[in-house]
Amino acid sequence: MYDTALIGGEVYAGGGLFKSNVFIKDGVIRLIGLEEHPSKDVVDCSGLFILPGIIDPHVHMELNLGHVTSCDDFYQGSVAAAFGGVTTILDFLDPIESEMKYANALKSRMEKAQASIIDYGFHATLGNFRGDVKELVRQVKRSGLSSIKVFTTYSESDRKVPKEVLEALLGEEIVTMVHAEDDELVDARYKEISTFENSRPLTSELSALKDLLALKRRGVLYVVHVSSGSGVELLSNMKHVVIESCPHYFYLSKESFKEEQGALYLLAPPLRSREERDKLNKRISLLTTIGTDHCPFKKEEKLKYGDAAKVPKGIGSISYSFLLMYNKFGIGIIDKMSKNVAAVFGLKDKGEIKEGHRADLFLFDPLKHTVVSAHMGASDYSVYQDMVLKGAVIRTMVSGKVVMDDGRVFENKGQFVRSDFNDRTDEY
Ligand SMILES: [Zn+2]
Repeated sequence: MYDTALIGGEVYAGGGLFKSNVFIKDGVIRLIGLEEHPSKDVVDCSGLFILPGIIDPHVHMELNLGHVTSCDDFYQGSVAAAFGGVTTILDFLDPIESEMKYANALKSRMEKAQASIIDYGFHATLGNFRGDVKELVRQVKRSGLSSIKVFTTYSESDRKVPKEVLEALLGEEIVTMVHAEDDELVDARYKEISTFENSRPLTSELSALKDLLALKRRGVLYVVHVSSGSGVELLSNMKHVVIESCPHYFYLSKESFKEEQGALYLLAPPLRSREERDKLNKRISLLTTIGTDHCPFKKEEKLKYGDAAKVPKGIGSISYSFLLMYNKFGIGIIDKMSKNVAAVFGLKDKGEIKEGHRADLFLFDPLKHTVVSAHMGASDYSVYQDMVLKGAVIRTMVSGKVVMDDGRVFENKGQFVRSDFNDRTDEY
Protein backbone atom coordinates (compact mmCIF):
# COMPACT_ATOMS: atom_id res chain seq x y z
CA MET A 1 0.00 0.00 0.00
CA TYR A 2 1.43 3.37 -1.05
CA ASP A 3 0.77 6.66 0.72
CA THR A 4 0.11 8.68 -2.41
CA ALA A 5 -0.52 7.81 -6.04
CA LEU A 6 -0.30 10.55 -8.65
CA ILE A 7 -2.31 9.14 -11.55
CA GLY A 8 -2.52 10.12 -15.20
CA GLY A 9 -0.17 13.09 -15.28
CA GLU A 10 2.80 13.79 -17.50
CA VAL A 11 5.99 13.19 -15.55
CA TYR A 12 9.17 15.15 -16.25
CA ALA A 13 12.18 12.85 -16.32
CA GLY A 14 15.30 12.53 -18.44
CA GLY A 15 14.69 15.88 -20.10
CA GLY A 16 11.16 15.19 -21.36
CA LEU A 17 7.53 14.65 -20.35
CA PHE A 18 5.89 11.27 -20.52
CA LYS A 19 2.60 9.86 -19.31
CA SER A 20 3.05 7.88 -16.13
CA ASN A 21 1.91 7.36 -12.55
CA VAL A 22 4.03 8.15 -9.52
CA PHE A 23 3.77 6.16 -6.27
CA ILE A 24 5.05 7.58 -3.00
CA LYS A 25 5.66 5.93 0.36
CA ASP A 26 7.38 7.30 3.47
CA GLY A 27 8.35 10.46 1.64
CA VAL A 28 10.16 8.64 -1.14
CA ILE A 29 9.26 8.03 -4.81
CA ARG A 30 8.99 4.23 -4.89
CA LEU A 31 7.64 3.53 -8.33
CA ILE A 32 7.07 5.30 -11.63
CA GLY A 33 5.00 3.33 -14.12
CA LEU A 34 1.80 2.97 -16.08
CA GLU A 35 0.24 0.33 -13.83
CA GLU A 36 -2.03 1.13 -10.88
CA HIS A 37 -1.48 0.06 -7.27
CA PRO A 38 -3.46 0.51 -4.07
CA SER A 39 -2.74 3.77 -2.28
CA LYS A 40 -4.22 5.67 0.66
CA ASP A 41 -4.45 8.88 -1.34
CA VAL A 42 -5.12 8.84 -5.07
CA VAL A 43 -4.67 12.11 -6.94
CA ASP A 44 -6.06 12.57 -10.43
CA CYS A 45 -3.33 14.39 -12.34
CA SER A 46 -4.85 14.29 -15.81
CA GLY A 47 -3.94 17.41 -17.73
CA LEU A 48 -1.15 18.21 -15.26
CA PHE A 49 2.62 18.06 -15.42
CA ILE A 50 4.38 16.38 -12.49
CA LEU A 51 7.63 18.32 -12.13
CA PRO A 52 10.65 17.96 -9.82
CA GLY A 53 10.57 20.43 -6.92
CA ILE A 54 12.55 23.57 -7.65
CA ILE A 55 15.81 23.85 -5.69
CA ASP A 56 16.67 27.51 -5.35
CA PRO A 57 20.43 27.80 -4.81
CA HIS A 58 20.37 31.48 -3.87
CA VAL A 59 18.04 33.04 -1.29
CA HIS A 60 18.46 35.57 1.52
CA MET A 61 15.82 35.13 4.20
CA GLU A 62 16.11 37.62 7.07
CA LEU A 63 19.34 39.03 5.67
CA ASN A 64 20.71 41.52 8.16
CA LEU A 65 22.23 44.50 6.35
CA GLY A 66 22.87 46.45 9.53
CA HIS A 67 20.32 49.25 9.13
CA VAL A 68 17.64 46.98 7.67
CA THR A 69 16.79 43.28 7.34
CA SER A 70 15.21 41.62 4.27
CA CYS A 71 11.54 41.23 5.08
CA ASP A 72 10.88 37.50 4.50
CA ASP A 73 11.80 35.34 7.46
CA PHE A 74 12.16 31.60 6.87
CA TYR A 75 8.46 30.98 7.44
CA GLN A 76 7.17 33.70 5.14
CA GLY A 77 9.85 33.08 2.57
CA SER A 78 9.28 29.34 2.50
CA VAL A 79 5.53 29.82 2.11
CA ALA A 80 6.18 32.20 -0.80
CA ALA A 81 8.54 29.58 -2.23
CA ALA A 82 5.99 26.77 -1.91
CA PHE A 83 3.58 28.83 -4.03
CA GLY A 84 6.19 28.73 -6.77
CA GLY A 85 6.87 24.98 -6.68
CA VAL A 86 10.10 25.43 -4.72
CA THR A 87 10.80 22.56 -2.32
CA THR A 88 14.38 23.35 -1.21
CA ILE A 89 16.18 26.64 -0.62
CA LEU A 90 19.88 27.23 -0.09
CA ASP A 91 20.47 30.28 2.08
CA PHE A 92 23.69 31.96 3.21
CA LEU A 93 25.34 32.07 6.62
CA ASP A 94 26.45 35.47 7.92
CA PRO A 95 29.94 36.48 6.71
CA ILE A 96 32.82 35.46 8.98
CA GLU A 97 36.43 36.67 9.27
CA SER A 98 37.79 33.57 10.96
CA GLU A 99 37.06 29.84 11.07
CA MET A 100 36.49 30.27 14.82
CA LYS A 101 33.24 32.06 14.00
CA TYR A 102 31.94 29.31 11.74
CA ALA A 103 30.14 27.11 14.26
CA ASN A 104 28.17 30.05 15.62
CA ALA A 105 27.28 31.37 12.18
CA LEU A 106 25.86 27.96 11.28
CA LYS A 107 24.03 27.58 14.56
CA SER A 108 22.29 30.94 14.40
CA ARG A 109 21.08 30.47 10.82
CA MET A 110 20.03 26.90 11.56
CA GLU A 111 17.85 28.17 14.39
CA LYS A 112 16.14 30.72 12.15
CA ALA A 113 15.57 28.12 9.44
CA GLN A 114 13.54 25.92 11.82
CA ALA A 115 10.53 27.98 10.75
CA SER A 116 10.80 26.86 7.11
CA ILE A 117 7.98 24.70 5.71
CA ILE A 118 10.25 23.46 2.92
CA ASP A 119 13.71 21.90 3.06
CA TYR A 120 16.75 24.11 3.43
CA GLY A 121 20.52 24.05 3.25
CA PHE A 122 23.25 26.66 3.48
CA HIS A 123 26.37 28.12 1.96
CA ALA A 124 29.08 29.46 4.28
CA THR A 125 30.01 33.10 3.60
CA LEU A 126 33.31 34.90 4.11
CA GLY A 127 33.84 38.53 4.92
CA ASN A 128 37.32 39.97 5.12
CA PHE A 129 38.61 36.52 6.10
CA ARG A 130 41.99 36.35 7.89
CA GLY A 131 41.84 32.83 9.28
CA ASP A 132 42.92 29.34 8.28
CA VAL A 133 41.28 28.35 4.99
CA LYS A 134 42.09 24.63 5.23
CA GLU A 135 40.65 24.38 8.72
CA LEU A 136 37.54 26.29 7.63
CA VAL A 137 36.98 23.94 4.67
CA ARG A 138 37.27 20.97 7.03
CA GLN A 139 34.66 22.40 9.38
CA VAL A 140 32.31 23.39 6.57
CA LYS A 141 32.40 19.92 5.01
CA ARG A 142 32.03 18.13 8.34
CA SER A 143 28.89 20.14 9.10
CA GLY A 144 27.12 19.12 5.88
CA LEU A 145 27.82 22.03 3.59
CA SER A 146 29.73 21.88 0.31
CA SER A 147 30.11 25.54 -0.61
CA ILE A 148 31.67 28.81 0.53
CA LYS A 149 30.69 32.19 -0.85
CA VAL A 150 32.99 35.17 -1.18
CA PHE A 151 32.65 38.73 -2.49
CA THR A 152 35.21 40.51 -4.64
CA THR A 153 33.48 43.78 -3.72
CA TYR A 154 31.78 45.48 -0.75
CA SER A 155 35.06 46.70 0.78
CA GLU A 156 32.95 49.52 2.28
CA SER A 157 31.23 46.97 4.55
CA ASP A 158 34.42 44.89 5.03
CA ARG A 159 33.11 41.92 3.08
CA LYS A 160 35.72 41.91 0.30
CA VAL A 161 37.69 38.67 0.35
CA PRO A 162 41.50 38.99 0.40
CA LYS A 163 42.95 37.68 -2.87
CA GLU A 164 45.15 35.08 -1.18
CA VAL A 165 42.08 33.66 0.58
CA LEU A 166 40.23 33.37 -2.72
CA GLU A 167 43.22 31.60 -4.25
CA ALA A 168 43.49 29.24 -1.30
CA LEU A 169 39.79 28.41 -1.51
CA LEU A 170 39.94 27.67 -5.22
CA GLY A 171 42.71 25.21 -4.43
CA GLU A 172 40.44 23.23 -2.08
CA GLU A 173 37.89 20.58 -2.97
CA ILE A 174 34.90 22.75 -2.29
CA VAL A 175 32.43 24.80 -4.32
CA THR A 176 33.68 28.39 -4.21
CA MET A 177 30.82 30.75 -4.98
CA VAL A 178 31.92 34.19 -6.10
CA HIS A 179 30.01 37.45 -6.25
CA ALA A 180 32.12 39.00 -8.98
CA GLU A 181 32.34 42.76 -9.29
CA ASP A 182 35.61 44.69 -9.50
CA ASP A 183 35.63 46.74 -6.32
CA GLU A 184 37.84 49.41 -7.87
CA LEU A 185 35.23 50.08 -10.57
CA VAL A 186 32.32 50.21 -8.10
CA ASP A 187 31.19 53.46 -6.51
CA ALA A 188 29.38 52.45 -3.32
CA ARG A 189 28.56 56.08 -2.46
CA TYR A 190 26.73 56.80 -5.71
CA LYS A 191 23.46 58.63 -4.97
CA GLU A 192 21.47 58.91 -8.22
CA ILE A 193 18.85 56.17 -8.56
CA SER A 194 17.87 56.70 -12.21
CA THR A 195 21.44 56.07 -13.39
CA PHE A 196 22.40 53.56 -10.68
CA GLU A 197 23.89 51.13 -13.17
CA ASN A 198 26.77 53.55 -13.77
CA SER A 199 27.94 52.96 -10.21
CA ARG A 200 28.42 49.23 -10.76
CA PRO A 201 28.96 49.11 -14.53
CA LEU A 202 29.15 46.09 -16.79
CA THR A 203 32.91 46.61 -17.01
CA SER A 204 33.16 45.92 -13.27
CA GLU A 205 31.54 42.50 -13.74
CA LEU A 206 33.63 41.65 -16.78
CA SER A 207 36.86 42.79 -15.15
CA ALA A 208 36.19 40.71 -12.03
CA LEU A 209 35.36 37.66 -14.18
CA LYS A 210 38.60 38.00 -16.14
CA ASP A 211 40.58 38.16 -12.89
CA LEU A 212 38.80 35.06 -11.64
CA LEU A 213 39.43 33.04 -14.76
CA ALA A 214 43.14 33.75 -14.47
CA LEU A 215 43.35 31.97 -11.11
CA LYS A 216 44.36 28.33 -10.77
CA ARG A 217 41.76 26.05 -9.28
CA ARG A 218 41.25 22.51 -8.14
CA GLY A 219 37.75 22.78 -6.71
CA VAL A 220 34.62 24.11 -8.38
CA LEU A 221 34.13 27.76 -9.30
CA TYR A 222 30.49 28.88 -9.12
CA VAL A 223 29.78 32.43 -10.23
CA VAL A 224 26.59 33.75 -8.65
CA HIS A 225 24.06 36.05 -10.32
CA VAL A 226 25.88 36.78 -13.58
CA SER A 227 23.98 39.85 -14.77
CA SER A 228 24.90 40.13 -18.43
CA GLY A 229 25.02 38.16 -21.67
CA SER A 230 28.63 39.27 -22.12
CA GLY A 231 29.53 37.91 -18.67
CA VAL A 232 28.03 34.53 -19.49
CA GLU A 233 29.89 34.47 -22.80
CA LEU A 234 33.19 35.22 -21.10
CA LEU A 235 32.73 32.43 -18.54
CA SER A 236 31.59 29.88 -21.07
CA ASN A 237 35.07 29.81 -22.58
CA MET A 238 36.27 28.08 -19.44
CA LYS A 239 35.60 24.49 -18.54
CA HIS A 240 34.02 23.53 -15.24
CA VAL A 241 32.68 26.90 -14.29
CA VAL A 242 29.17 26.85 -12.89
CA ILE A 243 27.23 29.86 -14.15
CA GLU A 244 24.16 31.13 -12.30
CA SER A 245 21.82 33.93 -13.28
CA CYS A 246 18.48 35.20 -11.96
CA PRO A 247 15.05 35.80 -13.50
CA HIS A 248 15.29 39.61 -13.25
CA TYR A 249 18.28 39.78 -15.57
CA PHE A 250 16.24 37.97 -18.24
CA TYR A 251 13.18 40.22 -17.87
CA LEU A 252 14.23 43.69 -16.78
CA SER A 253 16.76 46.32 -17.81
CA LYS A 254 18.37 49.38 -16.28
CA GLU A 255 15.59 51.48 -17.89
CA SER A 256 13.48 50.47 -14.86
CA PHE A 257 15.69 52.61 -12.59
CA LYS A 258 14.41 55.67 -14.47
CA GLU A 259 10.81 55.02 -13.44
CA GLU A 260 9.22 57.29 -10.85
CA GLN A 261 9.67 54.55 -8.23
CA GLY A 262 12.92 53.29 -9.73
CA ALA A 263 14.29 52.56 -6.25
CA LEU A 264 11.99 49.52 -6.08
CA TYR A 265 14.28 47.83 -8.61
CA LEU A 266 17.63 48.52 -6.94
CA LEU A 267 19.84 45.50 -6.49
CA ALA A 268 23.46 44.49 -7.01
CA PRO A 269 24.75 43.67 -9.52
CA PRO A 270 22.30 46.06 -11.19
CA LEU A 271 19.99 45.45 -14.11
CA ARG A 272 21.86 45.95 -17.38
CA SER A 273 21.07 47.42 -20.80
CA ARG A 274 18.36 45.92 -23.00
CA GLU A 275 21.08 44.63 -25.33
CA GLU A 276 22.80 42.73 -22.51
CA ARG A 277 19.46 41.37 -21.31
CA ASP A 278 18.59 40.12 -24.80
CA LYS A 279 22.04 38.59 -25.20
CA LEU A 280 21.60 36.79 -21.89
CA ASN A 281 18.30 35.35 -23.11
CA LYS A 282 19.99 34.05 -26.25
CA ARG A 283 22.77 32.43 -24.20
CA ILE A 284 20.46 30.46 -21.88
CA SER A 285 21.99 27.13 -22.89
CA LEU A 286 25.34 28.21 -21.41
CA LEU A 287 23.89 28.66 -17.91
CA THR A 288 24.08 25.92 -15.31
CA THR A 289 21.64 27.10 -12.65
CA ILE A 290 18.98 29.70 -11.98
CA GLY A 291 18.80 31.24 -8.51
CA THR A 292 16.38 33.98 -7.58
CA ASP A 293 18.67 35.93 -5.23
CA HIS A 294 15.38 36.34 -3.33
CA CYS A 295 15.96 39.31 -1.01
CA PRO A 296 12.72 41.29 -0.67
CA PHE A 297 12.09 44.53 1.18
CA LYS A 298 8.91 46.45 1.77
CA LYS A 299 8.05 49.29 -0.56
CA GLU A 300 8.52 51.90 2.14
CA GLU A 301 12.04 50.63 2.94
CA LYS A 302 13.05 50.95 -0.71
CA LEU A 303 11.48 54.37 -1.26
CA LYS A 304 12.21 56.31 1.90
CA TYR A 305 15.86 57.24 1.26
CA GLY A 306 15.91 58.69 -2.24
CA ASP A 307 19.67 57.99 -2.23
CA ALA A 308 20.93 54.95 -4.15
CA ALA A 309 23.74 54.36 -1.66
CA LYS A 310 21.25 53.93 1.18
CA VAL A 311 18.44 52.01 -0.52
CA PRO A 312 18.59 48.36 0.58
CA LYS A 313 19.60 46.30 -2.47
CA GLY A 314 17.54 43.30 -3.40
CA ILE A 315 14.19 42.18 -4.77
CA GLY A 316 11.97 39.16 -4.17
CA SER A 317 10.54 36.78 -6.75
CA ILE A 318 10.69 33.25 -5.40
CA SER A 319 6.94 32.63 -5.87
CA TYR A 320 7.31 33.23 -9.59
CA SER A 321 10.87 32.24 -10.47
CA PHE A 322 9.87 28.99 -12.14
CA LEU A 323 6.87 30.50 -13.95
CA LEU A 324 8.93 33.43 -15.20
CA MET A 325 11.64 31.17 -16.58
CA TYR A 326 9.15 28.61 -17.94
CA ASN A 327 7.37 31.34 -19.84
CA LYS A 328 10.57 32.19 -21.67
CA PHE A 329 12.16 28.79 -22.08
CA GLY A 330 9.52 26.09 -21.57
CA ILE A 331 10.40 22.78 -19.96
CA GLY A 332 14.02 23.21 -21.09
CA ILE A 333 14.54 25.33 -17.98
CA ILE A 334 13.59 22.64 -15.45
CA ASP A 335 16.99 20.92 -15.05
CA LYS A 336 18.71 24.26 -14.39
CA MET A 337 16.32 24.79 -11.46
CA SER A 338 16.39 21.29 -9.97
CA LYS A 339 18.71 18.53 -11.18
CA ASN A 340 21.72 20.77 -11.90
CA VAL A 341 21.54 22.42 -8.49
CA ALA A 342 21.49 19.03 -6.76
CA ALA A 343 24.44 17.87 -8.88
CA VAL A 344 26.55 20.99 -8.28
CA PHE A 345 26.19 20.95 -4.50
CA GLY A 346 25.91 17.22 -3.91
CA LEU A 347 22.33 17.03 -2.64
CA LYS A 348 21.69 13.33 -2.54
CA ASP A 349 18.27 11.97 -3.59
CA LYS A 350 17.03 15.36 -4.72
CA GLY A 351 16.47 17.22 -7.97
CA GLU A 352 14.80 14.55 -10.07
CA ILE A 353 11.63 12.53 -10.23
CA LYS A 354 13.24 9.15 -9.96
CA GLU A 355 12.65 5.96 -8.01
CA GLY A 356 14.47 6.19 -4.68
CA HIS A 357 14.53 9.99 -4.66
CA ARG A 358 12.73 12.20 -2.13
CA ALA A 359 9.16 12.94 -3.23
CA ASP A 360 9.85 16.65 -3.73
CA LEU A 361 7.68 17.69 -6.64
CA PHE A 362 4.90 19.94 -7.82
CA LEU A 363 1.81 19.63 -9.97
CA PHE A 364 1.66 22.17 -12.76
CA ASP A 365 -1.28 23.09 -15.00
CA PRO A 366 0.14 24.28 -18.34
CA LEU A 367 -3.21 25.60 -19.54
CA LYS A 368 -4.08 27.87 -16.61
CA HIS A 369 -2.69 31.37 -16.16
CA THR A 370 -1.18 33.09 -13.13
CA VAL A 371 -1.36 36.81 -12.41
CA VAL A 372 1.63 38.05 -10.41
CA SER A 373 0.50 39.32 -7.01
CA ALA A 374 2.06 42.17 -5.06
CA HIS A 375 1.56 40.24 -1.84
CA MET A 376 3.64 37.10 -1.70
CA GLY A 377 5.66 36.65 1.47
CA ALA A 378 6.05 39.72 3.66
CA SER A 379 6.71 42.25 0.90
CA ASP A 380 3.99 44.51 -0.51
CA TYR A 381 5.12 44.85 -4.09
CA SER A 382 6.60 42.84 -6.94
CA VAL A 383 8.63 44.13 -9.87
CA TYR A 384 6.48 41.78 -11.99
CA GLN A 385 3.17 42.87 -10.44
CA ASP A 386 0.06 42.12 -12.58
CA MET A 387 2.09 40.32 -15.23
CA VAL A 388 0.09 37.40 -16.68
CA LEU A 389 2.12 34.21 -16.94
CA LYS A 390 1.03 31.03 -18.62
CA GLY A 391 0.80 28.00 -16.37
CA ALA A 392 -0.04 27.61 -12.69
CA VAL A 393 1.50 25.75 -9.76
CA ILE A 394 -1.37 23.69 -8.34
CA ARG A 395 0.21 21.67 -5.55
CA THR A 396 3.66 21.48 -3.98
CA MET A 397 4.91 18.43 -2.08
CA VAL A 398 8.00 18.11 0.11
CA SER A 399 9.04 14.55 0.95
CA GLY A 400 5.57 13.42 -0.05
CA LYS A 401 3.81 15.94 2.18
CA VAL A 402 1.52 18.55 0.68
CA VAL A 403 2.71 22.02 1.71
CA MET A 404 0.63 24.05 -0.77
CA ASP A 405 -2.53 23.04 -2.55
CA ASP A 406 -4.58 25.35 -4.73
CA GLY A 407 -3.53 28.45 -2.80
CA ARG A 408 -3.80 26.88 0.66
CA VAL A 409 -0.70 26.40 2.79
CA PHE A 410 -0.17 23.45 5.14
CA GLU A 411 2.14 23.37 8.11
CA ASN A 412 5.27 21.32 7.68
CA LYS A 413 8.66 21.15 9.30
CA GLY A 414 11.25 21.49 6.57
CA GLN A 415 14.43 19.44 6.99
CA PHE A 416 18.06 20.53 6.86
CA VAL A 417 19.54 19.10 3.67
CA ARG A 418 23.14 18.00 3.93
CA SER A 419 25.26 18.64 0.88
CA ASP A 420 28.36 16.57 0.37
CA PHE A 421 31.21 17.43 -1.97
CA ASN A 422 31.79 13.70 -2.52
CA ASP A 423 28.21 13.25 -3.75
CA ARG A 424 28.44 16.00 -6.33
CA THR A 425 28.71 15.23 -10.03
CA ASP A 426 29.62 17.19 -13.14
CA GLU A 427 26.45 16.10 -14.94
CA TYR A 428 25.12 19.49 -15.86
ZN1 LIG B 1 22.68 37.08 -3.17
